[in-house]
Amino acid sequence: MPSIPPPASVLVVGTVAFDTIETPFGRAERVLGGSATYASLAARLLTPDVRLSAVVGGDFPESHAEALRQRGVDTEGLARDPEGETFFWAGRYHHDLNHRDTLATHLNVLATFEPELPESYRDTRVLCLGNLDPTVQMSVLDQVTGPDGSGPTLVVMDTMNYWIEKTPGPLGEVLERVDVLVINDAEARELADTPNLVRAAREIRERGPQTLVIKKGEHGALLFTGETEAPTVFAAPAYPLEEVLDPTGAGDVFMGGFAGHLARVGEVTDDAFREAVVVGSAMASHAVEAFGPQRMLELTEADVRQRVAAFHALSAIPARLVA
Ligand code: AMP
Repeated sequence: MPSIPPPASVLVVGTVAFDTIETPFGRAERVLGGSATYASLAARLLTPDVRLSAVVGGDFPESHAEALRQRGVDTEGLARDPEGETFFWAGRYHHDLNHRDTLATHLNVLATFEPELPESYRDTRVLCLGNLDPTVQMSVLDQVTGPDGSGPTLVVMDTMNYWIEKTPGPLGEVLERVDVLVINDAEARELADTPNLVRAAREIRERGPQTLVIKKGEHGALLFTGETEAPTVFAAPAYPLEEVLDPTGAGDVFMGGFAGHLARVGEVTDDAFREAVVVGSAMASHAVEAFGPQRMLELTEADVRQRVAAFHALSAIPARLVA
């Protein structure tokens, strides 16, 4: 895979939403959410050129868009449909925060969204296809020419059960064109229709993405690279937190941090992927400590660095064991 001169541009496409969130620790009503919101905020903390493509309705307050701009996210590609309502999602988490019920998904303006990328976005190198209708993901993929007309250098993608169940055909077509897929364990099992994660990884990688990250919530993440038949596997732990308030967006933050790190170092080697998994995990561990996107709107690079160091200490196996 080619290298990407750093710092590379990152384009995040996904949802910008209103979320209503219930956890055992509280409730947040119609707060700013959406996969693109979380992922772009995460990526922008690591690399300077982060572009956003999404759609909102006439009900979306300008102050939310301004909050993204204040954090340095380029919102030229944030379309507004004044006649429609913004994508709305409601979820309820149980005592075990790894599990949640989706109470409502109202596509609203997303149902008719046909993104047209601003000219200034088309040369993007690192394309982050956030959790979204795969038909829209494909349309964006087709519009990114990359710096030399041959398309984006790296395509990272996320999806979820909603799209796996409702749009398997278009999802399969996007998968064929993706370099890195980032999904959670339940989605990997569902996508591959098999309970074993290693087997699921092989089947998914055979369908397109050379690199696969399987997130396992509070149990960390697995990275599969190399040969599909004999993969190289890297396991990163999750940071053991005493207080988790709201896991919403953790997966998107992970993807934004993962892609942002690769854009920043300009490398797509196995080591860079491993680093990206740790950085993504460190950022996600911060995101879940507050409701909605609050923590992501305040997080600093120093916070991320500190937690990456904590991750290192957390999983360091004394060398003499393997000497
Ligand atoms: P995560 O917790 O990482 O799965 O992301 C949660 C975010 O994804 C919320 O802010 C929602 O607005 C958004 N979301 C929920 N369902 C969907 C969907 N079907 N497609 C796109 N984004 C969604």
